Amino acid sequence: MTDYRRKATAAHGTLRIIAADMAGTALEIQRAHQAAPVAAAAMGRLAAAAAILASDFKNPALMIVEVEGDGPLGRVVAEVRSGGKVRARADHPQIVLPLRPDGKLAVGQAVGSQGVFKVTREDPSGALYQGQVALVSGEIGVDFAQYYTLSEQIPSAVAVGVLVGTGGEVAAAGGLVIQALPGSQEYIEPVIARLGRLERISHRLAGGESIEQLAEDVIGGPLDWFAKEPIYYGCECSQTRSLEILSSLPRAELEALIEDEGAEVVCHYCHSAYRFSLKQLEQLLIQAAD
Ligand SMILES: [Zn+2]
Repeated sequence: MTDYRRKATAAHGTLRIIAADMAGTALEIQRAHQAAPVAAAAMGRLAAAAAILASDFKNPALMIVEVEGDGPLGRVVAEVRSGGKVRARADHPQIVLPLRPDGKLAVGQAVGSQGVFKVTREDPSGALYQGQVALVSGEIGVDFAQYYTLSEQIPSAVAVGVLVGTGGEVAAAGGLVIQALPGSQEYIEPVIARLGRLERISHRLAGGESIEQLAEDVIGGPLDWFAKEPIYYGCECSQTRSLEILSSLPRAELEALIEDEGAEVVCHYCHSAYRFSLKQLEQLLIQAAD
């Protein structure tokens, strides 16, 4: 599976469309955490939101989208780097919840409806920009739409979806955002209504339709698409970065980490483990601040 993000415009440039097919990425994220379906869906939806948000900026070094709700899943984080590399995590990816009465995964219940949807963007210069809105439902799509409308002041119709197949693994994932450019707000209401009536996007993607076809279905005609931009799963961790983390710790924390034979740093995103010898750690202790 090859994932991508793609933009288009419609209605003489007054509507902007951003679409992302995320199936492979969402599956890799699920496998990295051996996540249960509801957590895989939450992380996949958030990763789609992050990939779409990152497209608003020419070249963000890093886009981080977090939901911190009061549900049993805990905090969920998705990161996208320039070039389209994505990773995600959740505090409790193994939680299992019964399906909702309509047969959908209970993402809103897992995330919780009290909390925040938070976006952090880092520019190539290192400058940070942050915005956040209160959660509406924890379903992520609605919360993402709320973020665009309130924080970015762009009226937006949003659909993000992840289908987990009968085998328990992600079978399809994607996101679609349609936005009204300034002065054309009246065009967005019917689009929001049509997007709301669109059958679950993850089912249609799993059925073989492309994310572009779904967008054209909502708009009601063919669109001029820009080139595909690749999206792929990958982690940023390494032995060197883990050492940097250790060396930034205060002495007391570093001492507490040291076992008889050294220490192990485990990545919260991909669960790779990096070992450090007692000798390396003693060297760090000499340099550590009190
Ligand atoms: Zn990692």
